[in-house]
Amino acid sequence: MEYIHRFSHRINFARPSPIRTIVSKIATLSKTRKIISFAAGEPDPDILPRDLYASLLSDILKEEKLSANYSPTEGIPELRKAIAKFMREFENVNAEEDEILVTIGGSQAIDLLGRLFLDPGDYVIVENPSYVNTIVDWEFYGARLIGVNLEKDGLDLGELEMKVKEARNEARKVKLVYVIPTGNNPAGVSMSEEKRKHLLEIASRYDLLVVEDAAYNHLVYEGSYKPLSHYDREGRVIYVGSFSKIFGTGLRIGWIRASKDLVEVIKTIKGPSDMCAPVPLQYLVERLLSKGFYETIRKKAIENYRVKRDIMLKAIGEYLRDTDYTKPSSGMFVLIKLPSNIDSEVFSQRLLEEYSVAVIPAKSFYIGDSGRNVIRLNFTMVDADEIEDGIKKIGVCLRDMLGKK
Ligand code: PMP
Repeated sequence: MEYIHRFSHRINFARPSPIRTIVSKIATLSKTRKIISFAAGEPDPDILPRDLYASLLSDILKEEKLSANYSPTEGIPELRKAIAKFMREFENVNAEEDEILVTIGGSQAIDLLGRLFLDPGDYVIVENPSYVNTIVDWEFYGARLIGVNLEKDGLDLGELEMKVKEARNEARKVKLVYVIPTGNNPAGVSMSEEKRKHLLEIASRYDLLVVEDAAYNHLVYEGSYKPLSHYDREGRVIYVGSFSKIFGTGLRIGWIRASKDLVEVIKTIKGPSDMCAPVPLQYLVERLLSKGFYETIRKKAIENYRVKRDIMLKAIGEYLRDTDYTKPSSGMFVLIKLPSNIDSEVFSQRLLEEYSVAVIPAKSFYIGDSGRNVIRLNFTMVDADEIEDGIKKIGVCLRDMLGKK
């Protein structure tokens, strides 16, 4: 059967997510040998309280008569209420229940926003680098991306303003500005408070709509930040939340916080595609929140990840001394810039095949060519006692490749 000529035009914009491609390759290789993986962007499974989840789920399925039925598309009222409260308490954002739409992870929230706002040929401004799955997803809707350089304290706002003006002068429609203000994936950079305020001033001046991806908002190891939405007085910020990074990526519960009217529209396009997010898991997250487990799990995560980050940075200082690398104060990743003549895809391939160490070539997180020699390393999911060995091997592989050139 020949399918290709039957596909929609949209499929021309599709490309596989490089992360998923590598992660499935690692899964296959792991069946036959031990891999040290710095590839994932997930919590450490050893600190997730699965027994607690099991017992809560068991209670839920016994006690909640409707827990194995559809819920409202926007989520069970109890969870919407709990998320609104969570945002008031943990995010300093004045959210109400009817401003919350429960989604299947932040990923679905991002996809829904792409479906709602983007026509082929529309422009989206993103931090450079930015989260590859958003790039891939929105490109699928035909969006064209404009990258704005990420500095140590967040987006280069001078460049942002210049690019907005440029787009205006050329009558290009900038539909969205997408930012990960805290713990940017892949760079681990967080935007300063001053820049958060300034970004909103620019958004107001040029009438821009901003999507705030808050996936890493509570994985902050030094300092603290209020989300962009906290400073928003004009409804310009749409907040995308996720419980993946604290409760576990497998629970698939995220949300959108937006104006009540916008939530109604998003609900309309969401319903026919999924009916609702998995209901037992909506109840589970609601109980975890209302019983105060968010803070206990998060605290444990922060302690664990901070130690691993420090081991990783120390090892990089020792074995990859000559490279440039980020020292993240938030998020899950370190970026390493390899010498400019090294292609990170070739490097990662060789590292995996010959040294059994997995990293993500970060090229696809960048708009343009600047990330060709950059790799992304995750420090949260790997075992602490494997980190040094893994970094050492990266050093050996690098010297090997440089020596052969
Ligand atoms: N945004 C960012 C920046 C992410 O890194 C991720 C997960 N890698 C997500 C959104 C989506 O996560 P989920 O769908 O599991 O909530």
